[in-house]
Amino acid sequence: MDILERIKEIKEKLNEASVAYYVNDNPIMDDYEYDMLMEELIRLEEENPSLKTLDSPTQRIGGEVLSKFKKVTHQVKMMSLADAFSYDELREWDKRVKAVAADATYCVELKIDGLSVSLKYEDGVLVQGATRGNGTVGEDITHNVKTIKSVPLKLKTPLTTEVRGEIFMPKASFIQLNLEREENEEELFANCRNAAAGSVRQLDSRIAAKRNLDTFLYYYLDQNVETQVEALEDMKRLGFKVNPMYRHCKTMDEVISYIEEMGKKRPDLPYDIDGIVLKVNEINLHSVIGETVKYPKWAIAYKFPPEEVHTELLDITYQV
Ligand code: NAD
Repeated sequence: MDILERIKEIKEKLNEASVAYYVNDNPIMDDYEYDMLMEELIRLEEENPSLKTLDSPTQRIGGEVLSKFKKVTHQVKMMSLADAFSYDELREWDKRVKAVAADATYCVELKIDGLSVSLKYEDGVLVQGATRGNGTVGEDITHNVKTIKSVPLKLKTPLTTEVRGEIFMPKASFIQLNLEREENEEELFANCRNAAAGSVRQLDSRIAAKRNLDTFLYYYLDQNVETQVEALEDMKRLGFKVNPMYRHCKTMDEVISYIEEMGKKRPDLPYDIDGIVLKVNEINLHSVIGETVKYPKWAIAYKFPPEEVHTELLDITYQV
């Protein structure tokens, strides 16, 4: 098969998988297969730049927004993350960062396997919750976000601000939900991420309210903080739920031992994670390092290899 044909074939597969995953919340391939096809496409486009098109899946964030929701235009684009699948790739990324920002250190965090959410507050009151959508335009899911107990409806300080993070479904809630669905002969959700996405993208907020969704917030769009660690601490003080397992690392060796440690903890965590996110801790360096159309260059996701999970309760094996 020639390169052009292979590119066309991968694009078709990725586009089909994206609709199933982002629009229907019902994936038709596992994440690892999707990630490997994406890696191959990125490599083929790098080797053949004339074959890279603007509508390529390598240039697009997420999926299309569902028309049943009011549309929300994000004032600051909600981006994706570049992926790394090996420590070598991480070290290469570190070299690229240090080439332009020699003093950079990293805030490393768990990569929660849920869906991104933007929360807007006016004078300390929650006024809007939105999905990432295609990065520029998301879906208004305020009615569902308000049902999530960890989302403060009112902040401790009357701030006008925006925070971003992840909505997820804890593993126990996911198992319970699928048991109920099995009893009712309804289609099972493939994993926690799709169950969470399927729950918040409903018009009837009574459905989300019953699903025990939870949140971890990790971006604070307030320029008064100097580091990502400070941003996390500030968000905690404001009343947001912040994952406590982040760490400030000064070297890549420290980053890699964090990844090893979290990889061991992963099966016992009460929520799914699919990797570790590294962010340059010093926020003033972000604009120096820059971004592409799809992701910031000052952050990267290390993706864990796929994990076989067997749930005896459901007697099904699924991949996360
Ligand atoms: P991504 O999931 O690889 O990474 C970006 C996302 O990570 C962010 O948008 C954010 O929501 C999330 N995130 C979690 N914890 C975070 C933290 N601490 N800090 C910052 N961000 C954090 O990228 P994506 O664009 O959302 O989705 C692409 C991925 O989705 C693919 O790599 C694949 O694994 C999966 N996918 C699978 C299929 C399929 O058919 N199985 C289809 C499409 C996408």
